[in-house]
Amino acid sequence: MSSLASSGPTAVPTSIVCDAAMSAYNFGPNHPMSPKRLELTARLARELGIFELPQVTLAESFVASDDELATVHSREYIAAVRRVGADPTLSDPDRGLGTDDDPAFAGMHEASARLGGASLAAADAIIAGTALRAVNFGGGMHHAAREKASGFCIYNDAAMAIVRLLDSGVSKVAYIDIDAHHGDGTQDIFWNDPRVLTISMHESGLTLFPGTGFANDIGGPDAQGTAVNVSLPAGTGDAGWLRAFHAVVPQLVEAFEADVIVSQHGCDSHRDDDLSHLNTSVDAQREAALSVAALADRVCSGRWIATGGGGYNIVSVVPRVWGHLMAVVAGRPVPLRTAVPEPWREYVREHYGKVAPLLMGEDADTWWRSWEVGYNPSDALDRTVMATRKAVFPLYGLDPWFD
Ligand SMILES: [Zn+2]
Repeated sequence: MSSLASSGPTAVPTSIVCDAAMSAYNFGPNHPMSPKRLELTARLARELGIFELPQVTLAESFVASDDELATVHSREYIAAVRRVGADPTLSDPDRGLGTDDDPAFAGMHEASARLGGASLAAADAIIAGTALRAVNFGGGMHHAAREKASGFCIYNDAAMAIVRLLDSGVSKVAYIDIDAHHGDGTQDIFWNDPRVLTISMHESGLTLFPGTGFANDIGGPDAQGTAVNVSLPAGTGDAGWLRAFHAVVPQLVEAFEADVIVSQHGCDSHRDDDLSHLNTSVDAQREAALSVAALADRVCSGRWIATGGGGYNIVSVVPRVWGHLMAVVAGRPVPLRTAVPEPWREYVREHYGKVAPLLMGEDADTWWRSWEVGYNPSDALDRTVMATRKAVFPLYGLDPWFD
């Protein structure tokens, strides 16, 4: 029996891209970006009944064409990915291909272009009006730059979806990136484009790859204030993470008057993820998704594309966070006290020899202190949030102290 109610007043027409072919994006058995995270996420979502909700339509991915890839990448770079993917004994370290982070593998071009096609499919559903919202949990390859692969990312699917929206007549897109790592590739692609607001909230580049994304990085000369960075101190937990989000993101997305939100929900900020030094919970990440949903409703008439991203604890973190994400997008959030479906736990036991969590939540305390209550200059988190607010808020007529 499904653990979700089958319909209700807040149900939102939602397209979810779910396609086993996306598992071809595979850097090999010793690489942290295992395609198994997609399979386990899809399996959990199905067991939770999310795919059977009447407002949900499942969509397939496709391999993006060179012309589609060229909306955000150079032709030379696409040719290089094709070359290395056709012969993985080659490498092109200047373009980040065939490196430790982005090892070459057979079919790399097609597999990477398919993730791009999946986010284009999400955008197409919204443009066609068949859905108000869409999810591509296999996307969010935010380190991919115009001319270079980086940090497990070859083609920047979210950037491609954003360009697709703009080309269809959408005026302004807000990109919200809450992955533990700076969304450098997406930011750089739109650095000087006033139509796209990129906000990245991440662990400081002083302690984490890729080492960029500080408060004073605010966009190019024609687009000042449309790049926003919140550079969190290592060790930030739920209260600080949610406080920072709410002190920056809603104010700017509203002031920017975005028409559509595209968000990246890398879940590697979780305390049990080894690739960052942030300490969030599943509960806090669900809370952030709910806040993006509310923002999409308030500012964008509901229109929202959500992607996955980083996330390397593939049993206890990734499937739950993205399961929650899909349910939130569809307007049918899964309560935190919901039991993780036993068939899924059994599957994990059999195939991974691991004990899966019992509940969809972690009983975390997600209380956070609102900025309106005050700012503490001796607190490292508050100082970094204030630095961001001071750098950008005045450009929108907002007050860094009080708004
Ligand atoms: Zn990450």
